[in-house]
Amino acid sequence: TSFAHFGFDEQLMSQIRKSEYTQPTPIQCQGVPIALSGRDMIGIAKTGSGKTAAFIWPMLVHIMDQKELEQGEGPIAVIVCPTRELCQQIHSECKRFGKVYGLRSVAVYGGGSMWEQAKALQEGAEIVVCTPGRLIDHVKKKATSLQRVTYLVFDEADRMFDMGFEYQVRSIASHVRPDRQTLLFSATFRKKIERLARDILVDPIRVVQ
Ligand code: AMP
Repeated sequence: TSFAHFGFDEQLMSQIRKSEYTQPTPIQCQGVPIALSGRDMIGIAKTGSGKTAAFIWPMLVHIMDQKELEQGEGPIAVIVCPTRELCQQIHSECKRFGKVYGLRSVAVYGGGSMWEQAKALQEGAEIVVCTPGRLIDHVKKKATSLQRVTYLVFDEADRMFDMGFEYQVRSIASHVRPDRQTLLFSATFRKKIERLARDILVDPIRVVQ
């Protein structure tokens, strides 16, 4: 598979070329077409596999399709991950690729300023990258709303469970409309992750790095 097989438009392709990636990684080859088809997906992949781009590129296509249909407030895509560092990394990839369409990303994580994050959320963003507890805090304070979310990603789910975020992860899933597309990434596929997948994904396709 080459990047051309994904059918991305010229704007996104030129940004991928600028990244100097020569070819898609295995998780991208398998995962991108599934995510583009709108199906739910479980990705068993580690850091370094290129998994971030595997959910960001289809996300951008999804948002551009959805933006026409859905007026209103709040993000269209939400990416939930375990740590501030990962949040910042994913956010910077979202900005790098999202800027070709003028899409805005906001990162909200524990330890950062609530006030500054709330201000950024209220200014508007199609993409929110977050740690679970902090997103819930902002939703409770009505700094943002999940009503428009149709693309939901949980990254490093096993690590979120290890850090005690299972309740928050499930709570976020239950507050997003059921007709969403959900992607779940995890380095391992343990019983607890399997159970989560069964509860929050619909007929998912499983992809292994
Ligand atoms: P990730 O596994 O998403 O954390 O990505 C690991 C690193 O690989 C990041 O620095 C990406 O910028 C880079 N990367 C992503 N996709 C590709 C690709 N197709 N070819 C080369 N590097 C890539």
